[in-house]
Amino acid sequence: MSVKIAIIGGSGAYDPSMFKVEEEVTPGTPYGNPSAPILIGELAGVKVAFLERHGQGHVYPPHMVPYRANLWALKELGVEHIISTSTCGSLKEGLHPGELVVLDQFVDFTKDRKYSFYNQGATYHISVAEPFCKDLRELFYIEGERLGLPIHQEGTYACIEGPRFSTKAESKMFQDYADVVGMTLVPEAPLARELEMCYVNISMITDYDVWKEHVVSIQDIISVMQKNLGQVRSLLESTLPKILTGCRKCECAKALENAKA
Ligand SMILES: [Zn+2]
Repeated sequence: MSVKIAIIGGSGAYDPSMFKVEEEVTPGTPYGNPSAPILIGELAGVKVAFLERHGQGHVYPPHMVPYRANLWALKELGVEHIISTSTCGSLKEGLHPGELVVLDQFVDFTKDRKYSFYNQGATYHISVAEPFCKDLRELFYIEGERLGLPIHQEGTYACIEGPRFSTKAESKMFQDYADVVGMTLVPEAPLARELEMCYVNISMITDYDVWKEHVVSIQDIISVMQKNLGQVRSLLESTLPKILTGCRKCECAKALENAKA
């Protein structure tokens, strides 16, 4: 069964009422099994594959997620477009918990992950100067605006290794480089590019990380997450039918051209 669009959902993103599962598959890959069975069904009349990044029951912390198996398995199913959702902490006063960011850049502070599919045999140096699909970013932002969601058109994500949170000193340093901080974007985004798939990330801000003097309760974070998830769901329902499959005009589809050493 071929499916062109996939959603990789972060913490708490899977809601069984979101779509009716028609098929569940676990493709084996040269990199092991994906984090969870891939659920295939219909959302807003569009056939999509859904993969829980952290596995069923959140068994893979960010630094242990089998990113290569996840991307490879989706590619095997025929996926061309990946919509990734994740939570993040804000590094800026102007970015508030409860808001969404359509990321346009990242800075990689991870330390020990499997970053590439090309570790032997052929060497490829792909370009990630613009690490996300331009067309998908534009589509999601326009749709988010139209729906009246609190959505930011761009933002730079600092990806840390985790699973621990940052120290205050680290968080203050990241403020010089990025707008939000999280643990999962790298290597997921560059691996999608290596497989020439279009990739967009919608980041949901849940808190102010640790740089800001403030008291956060777990109840606050949960209520922000629930509000965020409702917003992301309406954004998905509205945007999915507008994604054109089978005729990509963006650069993502030719990422390997001229990248071979
Ligand atoms: Zn693209």
